[in-house]
Amino acid sequence: MLRAPGMGYGECEDQSVPDAMTILPEYPPTCGLTELKPKALEEVADIRVFAYIQNGGWCWSNSGVVYSAKRNEITLIDVLTDPKQTGKLLQQVERALPGAKLKTLVLTHCDVDHIGGYQLVQDQVEEVYAAKDCEGAMKAFYQSNMGAKVSLLHYAWTLLDNPLTRRAFGGGETIPSWLAKIAIAPLFDPFAWDTVSGWSEVSQGKFVTSELQDQRLTINEHITLMTTNVSCGGGRVRFVGDILFNGITPLIWSGTIHDALRVADDFGKNWDGFIVPGHGAIQHSSQKPFETSSGYWKTLLNIYEDKGRSEFSRQGVLQLLPPVYRNWADAERTLINLWVHELHENNPASKANKLGLIAKYTSHKPL
Ligand SMILES: [Zn+2]
Repeated sequence: MLRAPGMGYGECEDQSVPDAMTILPEYPPTCGLTELKPKALEEVADIRVFAYIQNGGWCWSNSGVVYSAKRNEITLIDVLTDPKQTGKLLQQVERALPGAKLKTLVLTHCDVDHIGGYQLVQDQVEEVYAAKDCEGAMKAFYQSNMGAKVSLLHYAWTLLDNPLTRRAFGGGETIPSWLAKIAIAPLFDPFAWDTVSGWSEVSQGKFVTSELQDQRLTINEHITLMTTNVSCGGGRVRFVGDILFNGITPLIWSGTIHDALRVADDFGKNWDGFIVPGHGAIQHSSQKPFETSSGYWKTLLNIYEDKGRSEFSRQGVLQLLPPVYRNWADAERTLINLWVHELHENNPASKANKLGLIAKYTSHKPL
Protein backbone atom coordinates (compact mmCIF):
# COMPACT_ATOMS: atom_id res chain seq x y z
CA MET A 1 0.00 0.00 0.00
CA LEU A 2 1.10 3.54 -0.74
CA ARG A 3 2.38 5.26 2.34
CA ALA A 4 1.94 9.00 2.47
CA PRO A 5 5.38 10.60 2.88
CA GLY A 6 5.69 11.76 6.46
CA MET A 7 3.50 9.01 7.89
CA GLY A 8 4.77 6.33 10.24
CA TYR A 9 7.68 8.41 11.57
CA GLY A 10 6.84 7.98 15.25
CA GLU A 11 9.40 6.97 17.84
CA CYS A 12 8.71 6.64 21.55
CA GLU A 13 11.98 8.46 22.29
CA ASP A 14 10.63 11.59 20.57
CA GLN A 15 7.57 11.77 22.85
CA SER A 16 7.85 14.08 25.83
CA VAL A 17 7.16 12.65 29.27
CA PRO A 18 4.12 14.49 30.66
CA ASP A 19 4.98 16.72 33.64
CA ALA A 20 2.12 15.21 35.63
CA MET A 21 3.42 11.64 35.30
CA THR A 22 4.08 9.97 38.68
CA ILE A 23 7.53 8.44 38.67
CA LEU A 24 8.98 5.60 40.74
CA PRO A 25 12.74 6.37 41.07
CA GLU A 26 13.65 2.70 40.51
CA TYR A 27 11.60 2.58 37.28
CA PRO A 28 12.14 5.89 35.46
CA PRO A 29 10.01 6.52 32.38
CA THR A 30 12.44 5.39 29.70
CA CYS A 31 11.14 3.91 26.47
CA GLY A 32 11.52 0.16 26.20
CA LEU A 33 11.80 -3.00 28.25
CA THR A 34 12.36 -2.84 32.02
CA GLU A 35 12.51 -5.81 34.36
CA LEU A 36 10.31 -5.49 37.44
CA LYS A 37 11.87 -6.87 40.58
CA PRO A 38 9.38 -6.81 43.41
CA LYS A 39 10.66 -8.50 46.59
CA ALA A 40 7.77 -10.95 46.50
CA LEU A 41 8.94 -12.31 43.14
CA GLU A 42 12.36 -13.26 44.53
CA GLU A 43 10.69 -16.22 46.22
CA VAL A 44 9.35 -17.43 42.88
CA ALA A 45 12.59 -18.41 41.17
CA ASP A 46 10.85 -19.50 37.99
CA ILE A 47 9.38 -16.19 36.92
CA ARG A 48 10.69 -12.90 35.51
CA VAL A 49 8.38 -9.99 34.69
CA PHE A 50 9.13 -7.10 32.32
CA ALA A 51 7.17 -4.04 31.28
CA TYR A 52 7.61 -2.35 27.91
CA ILE A 53 6.89 1.31 28.51
CA GLN A 54 6.11 4.18 26.13
CA ASN A 55 5.38 7.57 27.54
CA GLY A 56 3.45 9.64 25.10
CA GLY A 57 -0.19 10.31 24.36
CA TRP A 58 -2.49 8.96 21.67
CA CYS A 59 -1.63 5.31 20.87
CA TRP A 60 1.69 5.21 22.77
CA SER A 61 0.66 2.20 24.86
CA ASN A 62 2.49 -0.25 27.14
CA SER A 63 3.01 -3.97 26.94
CA GLY A 64 4.28 -6.73 29.25
CA VAL A 65 6.37 -9.88 29.25
CA VAL A 66 6.17 -12.76 31.73
CA TYR A 67 8.95 -15.33 31.40
CA SER A 68 8.95 -18.83 32.86
CA ALA A 69 12.56 -20.01 33.24
CA LYS A 70 11.45 -23.59 33.92
CA ARG A 71 9.74 -23.82 30.54
CA ASN A 72 11.84 -21.17 28.75
CA GLU A 73 8.55 -19.66 27.59
CA ILE A 74 7.24 -16.13 27.25
CA THR A 75 3.74 -14.78 27.71
CA LEU A 76 3.28 -11.42 26.00
CA ILE A 77 0.65 -9.08 27.41
CA ASP A 78 -0.68 -6.83 24.60
CA VAL A 79 1.10 -5.87 21.40
CA LEU A 80 1.58 -2.25 20.30
CA THR A 81 -0.17 0.06 17.84
CA ASP A 82 1.54 -0.98 14.63
CA PRO A 83 3.96 -3.61 13.31
CA LYS A 84 6.84 -1.10 13.47
CA GLN A 85 6.51 -0.42 17.22
CA THR A 86 5.70 -4.08 17.95
CA GLY A 87 8.83 -5.13 16.00
CA LYS A 88 10.94 -2.97 18.31
CA LEU A 89 9.28 -4.57 21.33
CA LEU A 90 9.96 -8.09 20.03
CA GLN A 91 13.62 -7.23 19.28
CA GLN A 92 14.11 -6.08 22.86
CA VAL A 93 12.41 -9.22 24.20
CA GLU A 94 14.73 -11.39 22.08
CA ARG A 95 17.74 -9.48 23.39
CA ALA A 96 16.64 -9.82 27.05
CA LEU A 97 15.57 -13.48 26.76
CA PRO A 98 17.56 -14.99 23.88
CA GLY A 99 16.15 -18.28 22.61
CA ALA A 100 12.99 -18.18 24.75
CA LYS A 101 9.81 -19.31 23.04
CA LEU A 102 6.96 -16.82 22.66
CA LYS A 103 4.13 -19.15 23.59
CA THR A 104 1.15 -17.11 24.69
CA LEU A 105 -0.44 -13.75 23.98
CA VAL A 106 -2.88 -12.20 26.46
CA LEU A 107 -4.78 -9.06 25.53
CA THR A 108 -5.94 -6.76 28.32
CA HIS A 109 -8.53 -5.32 25.91
CA CYS A 110 -8.83 -4.79 22.17
CA ASP A 111 -8.45 -1.08 21.48
CA VAL A 112 -6.39 -0.45 18.35
CA ASP A 113 -3.27 0.58 20.25
CA HIS A 114 -3.09 -2.80 22.02
CA ILE A 115 -3.69 -5.07 19.01
CA GLY A 116 -2.26 -3.33 15.90
CA GLY A 117 0.96 -5.39 15.83
CA TYR A 118 -0.83 -8.75 16.20
CA GLN A 119 0.28 -10.03 12.79
CA LEU A 120 3.92 -10.20 13.99
CA VAL A 121 3.15 -12.74 16.71
CA GLN A 122 0.18 -14.67 15.36
CA ASP A 123 2.34 -17.38 13.76
CA GLN A 124 4.62 -17.67 16.78
CA VAL A 125 2.17 -17.94 19.66
CA GLU A 126 0.30 -21.15 20.41
CA GLU A 127 -2.42 -19.50 22.44
CA VAL A 128 -4.21 -16.15 22.45
CA TYR A 129 -6.41 -15.10 25.36
CA ALA A 130 -8.71 -12.12 25.38
CA ALA A 131 -12.06 -11.05 26.78
CA LYS A 132 -15.30 -11.89 25.01
CA ASP A 133 -15.81 -8.74 22.95
CA CYS A 134 -12.27 -8.84 21.55
CA GLU A 135 -12.82 -10.79 18.37
CA GLY A 136 -15.42 -8.30 17.11
CA ALA A 137 -13.07 -5.39 17.86
CA MET A 138 -10.18 -7.16 16.07
CA LYS A 139 -12.35 -7.82 13.05
CA ALA A 140 -13.57 -4.21 12.89
CA PHE A 141 -10.02 -2.87 13.07
CA TYR A 142 -8.51 -5.25 10.51
CA GLN A 143 -11.37 -4.60 8.10
CA SER A 144 -11.17 -0.83 8.50
CA ASN A 145 -8.31 -0.24 6.05
CA MET A 146 -6.78 2.22 8.46
CA GLY A 147 -3.62 2.68 6.35
CA ALA A 148 -5.57 4.06 3.37
CA LYS A 149 -7.78 6.24 5.59
CA VAL A 150 -4.87 7.76 7.48
CA SER A 151 -2.96 8.31 4.19
CA LEU A 152 -5.91 10.24 2.78
CA LEU A 153 -6.27 12.28 5.94
CA HIS A 154 -2.56 12.96 5.90
CA TYR A 155 -2.66 14.32 2.33
CA ALA A 156 -5.76 16.41 3.03
CA TRP A 157 -4.25 17.84 6.19
CA THR A 158 -0.96 18.62 4.40
CA LEU A 159 -2.98 20.84 2.04
CA LEU A 160 -4.95 22.51 4.82
CA ASP A 161 -2.28 22.94 7.48
CA ASN A 162 -1.05 26.39 6.46
CA PRO A 163 -1.08 29.89 7.98
CA LEU A 164 -4.19 30.84 5.99
CA THR A 165 -6.31 28.00 7.41
CA ARG A 166 -4.92 28.57 10.85
CA ARG A 167 -5.81 32.26 10.68
CA ALA A 168 -9.25 31.53 9.28
CA PHE A 169 -10.24 28.77 11.68
CA GLY A 170 -7.72 28.63 14.49
CA GLY A 171 -8.61 31.72 16.46
CA GLY A 172 -11.94 30.76 17.99
CA GLU A 173 -13.16 28.30 20.59
CA THR A 174 -13.97 25.67 17.98
CA ILE A 175 -13.23 24.82 14.34
CA PRO A 176 -15.84 23.58 11.84
CA SER A 177 -16.56 19.86 12.05
CA TRP A 178 -15.53 19.19 8.40
CA LEU A 179 -12.09 20.63 9.15
CA ALA A 180 -11.86 18.77 12.46
CA LYS A 181 -12.42 15.46 10.66
CA ILE A 182 -9.23 16.16 8.71
CA ALA A 183 -7.35 17.83 11.57
CA ILE A 184 -7.21 14.50 13.44
CA ALA A 185 -4.44 13.42 11.01
CA PRO A 186 -1.49 14.42 13.25
CA LEU A 187 -2.78 12.10 16.01
CA PHE A 188 -2.48 9.08 13.70
CA ASP A 189 0.42 10.11 11.47
CA PRO A 190 3.22 8.74 13.69
CA PHE A 191 2.18 5.13 13.11
CA ALA A 192 2.79 2.79 10.17
CA TRP A 193 -0.86 1.82 9.62
CA ASP A 194 -0.11 0.98 6.01
CA THR A 195 1.86 -2.09 7.15
CA VAL A 196 -1.08 -3.58 9.09
CA SER A 197 -2.47 -6.80 7.51
CA GLY A 198 -6.03 -7.17 6.29
CA TRP A 199 -8.61 -9.28 8.12
CA SER A 200 -8.30 -12.19 5.67
CA GLU A 201 -4.68 -12.74 6.74
CA VAL A 202 -5.27 -12.14 10.45
CA SER A 203 -8.34 -14.35 10.63
CA GLN A 204 -6.18 -17.31 9.52
CA GLY A 205 -4.38 -17.07 12.85
CA LYS A 206 -5.26 -18.78 16.09
CA PHE A 207 -7.41 -16.08 17.57
CA VAL A 208 -9.27 -17.28 20.61
CA THR A 209 -11.90 -15.51 22.60
CA SER A 210 -11.76 -16.66 26.18
CA GLU A 211 -14.71 -17.21 28.43
CA LEU A 212 -13.88 -16.01 31.91
CA GLN A 213 -15.24 -18.07 34.81
CA ASP A 214 -16.17 -15.86 37.76
CA GLN A 215 -14.43 -12.99 35.98
CA ARG A 216 -11.10 -14.81 35.85
CA LEU A 217 -9.17 -17.31 33.77
CA THR A 218 -6.00 -19.03 34.99
CA ILE A 219 -3.56 -19.13 32.10
CA ASN A 220 -0.75 -20.85 33.99
CA GLU A 221 0.56 -20.95 37.57
CA HIS A 222 1.92 -17.39 37.19
CA ILE A 223 -0.72 -15.56 35.17
CA THR A 224 -4.44 -14.88 35.54
CA LEU A 225 -6.59 -12.95 33.07
CA MET A 226 -9.38 -11.00 34.74
CA THR A 227 -12.05 -8.71 33.34
CA THR A 228 -10.05 -5.58 34.04
CA ASN A 229 -6.42 -6.69 34.16
CA VAL A 230 -3.77 -9.39 33.85
CA SER A 231 -2.30 -10.43 37.18
CA CYS A 232 1.05 -12.22 37.53
CA GLY A 233 3.63 -13.23 40.12
CA GLY A 234 1.08 -14.08 42.80
CA GLY A 235 -0.74 -10.82 42.08
CA ARG A 236 2.33 -8.68 42.84
CA VAL A 237 2.32 -7.18 39.34
CA ARG A 238 -0.80 -6.18 37.47
CA PHE A 239 -1.02 -5.12 33.86
CA VAL A 240 -4.17 -3.09 33.95
CA GLY A 241 -4.53 -1.93 30.33
CA ASP A 242 -6.47 1.27 29.84
CA ILE A 243 -8.26 1.28 33.17
CA LEU A 244 -5.27 3.37 34.31
CA PHE A 245 -3.22 6.09 32.60
CA ASN A 246 -0.29 7.71 34.41
CA GLY A 247 -0.17 11.51 34.07
CA ILE A 248 -2.27 11.38 30.92
CA THR A 249 -6.04 11.93 30.80
CA PRO A 250 -7.72 8.50 30.58
CA LEU A 251 -10.40 7.66 28.04
CA ILE A 252 -13.51 5.56 28.41
CA TRP A 253 -14.81 4.22 25.12
CA SER A 254 -17.40 1.84 26.51
CA GLY A 255 -19.75 2.03 29.46
CA THR A 256 -20.29 5.07 31.61
CA ILE A 257 -18.31 7.06 34.14
CA HIS A 258 -20.10 5.02 36.83
CA ASP A 259 -18.42 1.89 35.43
CA ALA A 260 -14.98 3.53 35.35
CA LEU A 261 -15.49 4.73 38.93
CA ARG A 262 -16.50 1.25 40.12
CA VAL A 263 -13.36 -0.31 38.61
CA ALA A 264 -11.09 2.38 40.13
CA ASP A 265 -12.73 1.96 43.56
CA ASP A 266 -12.39 -1.83 43.44
CA PHE A 267 -8.71 -1.57 42.62
CA GLY A 268 -8.01 0.94 45.35
CA LYS A 269 -8.95 -1.63 48.00
CA ASN A 270 -6.57 -3.88 49.91
CA TRP A 271 -4.01 -4.57 47.30
CA ASP A 272 -0.26 -4.14 47.33
CA GLY A 273 1.96 -4.37 44.28
CA PHE A 274 3.23 -2.90 41.03
CA ILE A 275 0.89 -1.62 38.39
CA VAL A 276 1.71 -1.32 34.71
CA PRO A 277 -0.81 1.19 33.33
CA GLY A 278 -2.07 1.05 29.76
CA HIS A 279 -0.20 4.30 29.12
CA GLY A 280 2.62 5.93 31.10
CA ALA A 281 5.25 4.92 33.65
CA ILE A 282 5.11 1.96 36.07
CA GLN A 283 3.42 2.72 39.38
CA HIS A 284 3.10 1.11 42.82
CA SER A 285 -0.09 0.76 44.83
CA SER A 286 1.52 2.87 47.59
CA GLN A 287 1.27 5.86 45.21
CA LYS A 288 -2.50 5.33 45.26
CA PRO A 289 -3.04 5.75 41.51
CA PHE A 290 -6.54 4.29 41.64
CA GLU A 291 -7.58 6.69 44.39
CA THR A 292 -6.45 9.55 42.13
CA SER A 293 -8.30 7.99 39.23
CA SER A 294 -11.42 7.54 41.34
CA GLY A 295 -11.31 11.26 42.24
CA TYR A 296 -11.18 12.14 38.54
CA TRP A 297 -14.25 10.07 37.68
CA LYS A 298 -16.17 11.52 40.65
CA THR A 299 -15.28 15.04 39.45
CA LEU A 300 -16.59 14.16 35.98
CA LEU A 301 -19.87 12.86 37.40
CA ASN A 302 -20.32 16.18 39.20
CA ILE A 303 -19.53 18.13 36.03
CA TYR A 304 -21.99 16.00 34.07
CA GLU A 305 -24.76 16.28 36.60
CA ASP A 306 -24.39 20.07 36.94
CA LYS A 307 -24.38 20.63 33.22
CA GLY A 308 -28.07 21.17 32.64
CA ARG A 309 -28.83 21.32 28.94
CA SER A 310 -25.80 23.20 27.65
CA GLU A 311 -23.04 21.67 25.48
CA PHE A 312 -19.71 21.02 27.16
CA SER A 313 -17.02 23.44 26.07
CA ARG A 314 -13.28 23.08 26.28
CA GLN A 315 -12.82 26.18 28.41
CA GLY A 316 -15.78 25.30 30.61
CA VAL A 317 -14.54 21.80 31.33
CA LEU A 318 -10.94 22.88 31.92
CA GLN A 319 -12.14 25.49 34.41
CA LEU A 320 -14.15 22.89 36.34
CA LEU A 321 -11.29 20.38 36.60
CA PRO A 322 -9.18 20.74 39.78
CA PRO A 323 -5.49 21.43 38.97
CA VAL A 324 -4.44 17.82 39.68
CA TYR A 325 -6.53 16.64 36.72
CA ARG A 326 -6.19 19.78 34.57
CA ASN A 327 -2.41 19.21 34.63
CA TRP A 328 -2.67 15.72 33.18
CA ALA A 329 -1.56 15.60 29.54
CA ASP A 330 -4.45 16.27 27.17
CA ALA A 331 -6.99 17.32 29.80
CA GLU A 332 -9.31 18.15 26.88
CA ARG A 333 -9.95 14.42 26.46
CA THR A 334 -12.30 14.90 29.40
CA LEU A 335 -14.77 16.12 26.77
CA ILE A 336 -14.71 12.68 25.12
CA ASN A 337 -15.35 10.99 28.47
CA LEU A 338 -18.38 13.20 29.06
CA TRP A 339 -19.76 12.56 25.56
CA VAL A 340 -19.27 8.78 25.85
CA HIS A 341 -20.94 8.83 29.27
CA GLU A 342 -23.87 10.82 27.89
CA LEU A 343 -24.21 8.42 24.96
CA HIS A 344 -24.31 5.33 27.17
CA GLU A 345 -26.53 6.92 29.81
CA ASN A 346 -29.08 7.63 27.10
CA ASN A 347 -28.59 4.38 25.20
CA PRO A 348 -26.57 1.70 27.02
CA ALA A 349 -26.47 -0.61 23.97
CA SER A 350 -24.98 1.98 21.60
CA LYS A 351 -21.37 1.86 20.47
CA ALA A 352 -19.19 4.97 20.56
CA ASN A 353 -17.96 6.12 17.15
CA LYS A 354 -14.34 6.64 18.14
CA LEU A 355 -13.10 8.51 15.08
CA GLY A 356 -16.21 10.71 15.16
CA LEU A 357 -15.64 11.56 18.81
CA ILE A 358 -11.94 12.24 18.24
CA ALA A 359 -12.94 14.63 15.43
CA LYS A 360 -15.45 16.33 17.75
CA TYR A 361 -12.71 16.70 20.38
CA THR A 362 -10.40 18.16 17.70
CA SER A 363 -13.10 20.69 16.77
CA HIS A 364 -12.97 21.93 20.39
CA LYS A 365 -9.18 21.98 20.64
CA PRO A 366 -7.95 24.86 18.45
CA LEU A 367 -5.34 24.12 15.82
ZN1 LIG B 1 -4.53 2.19 25.13
